[in-house]
Amino acid sequence: MLEIDKIRNNFPILNQTVNNKPLIYLDNGATTQKPKQVIEIIEKMYSEYNSNIHRGVHFLSNKSTEIYENARNIVKDFINAEKREEIIFTKGTTDAINLVAFSFGEKFIHENDEIIVAETEHHSNIVPWQMLCESKKAVLKVISADKNGELQLDEYKKILNKNTKMVAVAHVANSIGIINPIQEIIDEAHKIGAKVLIDGAQSIQHKNIDVQELNCDFFVFSGHKMYAETGIGVLYGKKGLLEEMPPYQGGGDMIKSVSFEKTEFAGLPLKFEAGTSNYVAAISMGEAINFINSVGIENIEKYETELLKYAEEKLSSIDGLTIYGKSKHKTSAISFLLNGIHHYDTGMIIDKLGIAVRTGAHCAEPTMKHFGITGTVRASFAIYNTKEEVDKLIEGINKVKMMLG
Ligand code: PLP
Repeated sequence: MLEIDKIRNNFPILNQTVNNKPLIYLDNGATTQKPKQVIEIIEKMYSEYNSNIHRGVHFLSNKSTEIYENARNIVKDFINAEKREEIIFTKGTTDAINLVAFSFGEKFIHENDEIIVAETEHHSNIVPWQMLCESKKAVLKVISADKNGELQLDEYKKILNKNTKMVAVAHVANSIGIINPIQEIIDEAHKIGAKVLIDGAQSIQHKNIDVQELNCDFFVFSGHKMYAETGIGVLYGKKGLLEEMPPYQGGGDMIKSVSFEKTEFAGLPLKFEAGTSNYVAAISMGEAINFINSVGIENIEKYETELLKYAEEKLSSIDGLTIYGKSKHKTSAISFLLNGIHHYDTGMIIDKLGIAVRTGAHCAEPTMKHFGITGTVRASFAIYNTKEEVDKLIEGINKVKMMLG
C-alpha cells in the first residue's frame, strides 16, 4: 500500500488554499507539481555547484558536468536505453519532435515520401511534420480514430505503404487519456521499413517504459510533466540512426573543431546539444526520476489506474455528463462536458472551489473536431491525488449543474 499522505507532504505547493478552499490540483497533464527533493537539488545546484558544463577544468565546472552526465545515466536506466549516447537533452517534447522532424527529415525524407500521425495527436506531433512535408513535398497521412477515440489499426495498416518513412504517434492521447496500441503500430511500421517516433509526454510519468523492448526508433518526453523542472526534455533515439542524422542546431558544445574552412561535429550525444543546455533542469530531471523510482513506477501505474477507474465510475453516474475518450486502455486523464454548459464556465466555477482542471482544446484541435466539440474539461491525475479529491470534483460538478444546468 502506498502512503499517499506521506507522498503529498513532499509537495509543498499542495499544502495551500485557493479561494479559501484546500487546493485540489487536477491539471497534471499540463504540468505536474514538484517534490521537495527536486526543489532542493535546484537550490543546491545554484548555492553550491553552479558552473557551465563541459567548459572548464576548474572544480565547479567538473562538478556540474559530472552531475549533468549522471542525470543522463539516470534517464538511460529509467527507459532502459542501451547506450547513454542515445539520450539527448532537449527543451522538451516539442523541441525533441522538432529536432527529429528537421534532422531525420533533412536526411531521409524526399518528395512523395509519406509520414503518418494519428488523429488524436497533440499539435506538437502534427505541426513539425506538416512543416517538414511542406518543405520536402512529402505527404502527411492520418490514422483515424473511431467514435470513442481509439485508433483504428485496420485503417493504419491500409495507409502504411512502401512510401511511408516515419510514423509518429503519441503513447497516450493527452486530451482524452487513451493509451494507443503502440506496440502494434511499431511492429507494423517496421515490417515495411518505416521508422517510428513515440511521443511519451503523457506516458513516461504513468507507465514503465522500456525502449529496447518497444523497439521504437525515437521516444520523446518532457521533464515538467514528470515532476521535474520546465525547459528540459529528452529525445531517445537509436544510436545508429542518430549517428546518420545531421545536427539540428550549430554552436558551442556540439563541435569537435571549428575553422572557417571546415567544422567537425562532436559525437553523440553532444552533436545534438548545441549551446549551454538547461543543465540544472536536466539535473532536476534525474532527481525527479529518483523520486519516481522511490515510489516505484509499477506502484504509480496501479494506484493511478485505480483512481482513474474511480473517477470514471463517479463521473459516469452524473446525469447529463458526457465522457470523451472511451477505452479499456486509459491512464490518468478524463475529459468530459456537461450538456449545454460551456467548458470554461464549468472550469471557472470549479476553480472557485479550489479545484484546478484544464479547459479548452488541450492543443488537440483535430481531436475536438473529431468529437464535434470545441473543448472539454479535463481532470488529470498524478501520484499525489486521492479519491477524496475526486469526490470533491464530483461535488463541484454537481454545483455547476445546479447553477447553470
Ligand atoms: N505531446 C503531448 C502528448 C503532450 O501532452 C504535450 C503537452 O501537453 C506535448 C506533446 C508538448 O509538451 P511540451 O509543451 O512540454 O513540449
